[in-house]
Amino acid sequence: MFIGHYGPAIWDTQRSHNKPIIKLWEAFLAVQAMDLLAGILVMFSLEGTRLNAAGDPIFHVPWSHSLLSSIVIAIVTAGIYKAFRPKATGRAMIVIAALVFSHWVLDLIVHRPDLPLYPGGETLLGFALWDYPWLAFALEAGFLAGAFLFWQRVTTAKNKKYDYGIWALYLLMVVLHFAFIVHQGIQVQNGTFDINHAPPDIILGLAFLVVIGLFAFLISRIEKGRPSKFSAT
Ligand SMILES: [Zn+2]
Repeated sequence: MFIGHYGPAIWDTQRSHNKPIIKLWEAFLAVQAMDLLAGILVMFSLEGTRLNAAGDPIFHVPWSHSLLSSIVIAIVTAGIYKAFRPKATGRAMIVIAALVFSHWVLDLIVHRPDLPLYPGGETLLGFALWDYPWLAFALEAGFLAGAFLFWQRVTTAKNKKYDYGIWALYLLMVVLHFAFIVHQGIQVQNGTFDINHAPPDIILGLAFLVVIGLFAFLISRIEKGRPSKFSAT
């Protein structure tokens, strides 16, 4: 999953009645903590794409995407958050950890079986919704649209720019999702996928980090102009 990961980041019950527990841009980074680690490991060719027995591409992501790793990364990320925000409440740390872990649960739905229980484990999990690229695309894009609509409803834009901003970002996310994920899924379906045409690892890993960073940066700009509808600040 890619843009669908941002759904849980936007969903935050306190957002509708009070000041948000954590900033939305922080949530955007938390839900992608596992992919940020994967991006770094891909740059050094320690993780990446491989072909499974059927010749379909799967991810070789034992360190960043095992079930055990996801729990460790959740705890470490909550710790990093506390280091940067010493006043953070236990509740905020739990929200961060839960958002990090949500990544594994959502990946489980879409990945072809490539998620191990622990690094090096031989049981690989994944319900392979990506085998139906258009359906998966519609679900991820729809999930994100629903989350943004919710956010739009529980916040007020300081001016129109912060309304357009949401949907401009949405469009960018959907287009990049198509380029990164759906396009490849369609090639797999058509039997035209060629792993040798993939960009070099260093570029691929870096591109991933840049895109995730860009989404977090853009949402931080938009969030400044969208205070909660239900609180003074
Ligand atoms: Zn992932």
